Amino acid sequence: MVQGYCMKCKEKRDMVKTEEVTMKNMRKAMKGSCAKCSTKMFKILAGPGGPTGPKKSSKKSKKGAAYKKKSKKSKKTQK
Ligand SMILES: [Zn+2]
Repeated sequence: MVQGYCMKCKEKRDMVKTEEVTMKNMRKAMKGSCAKCSTKMFKILAGPGGPTGPKKSSKKSKKGAAYKKKSKKSKKTQK
């Protein structure tokens, strides 16, 4: 049986009603619900980019930098 981490139980639980899905980034994932509390669970499986280990491989910190957004204040029709 597939196991996943249940956010509600805060424990690893068996997943029921599992369903394999492919995410936008072509990663395969498993959808299902917790066998205990039936909370929806989501488990990311190994994708084409390599196996997803317990370590966080991608070191991307979202801290301000490289976050450019056009501050375009569009005034709403004000007559
Ligand atoms: Zn649960």
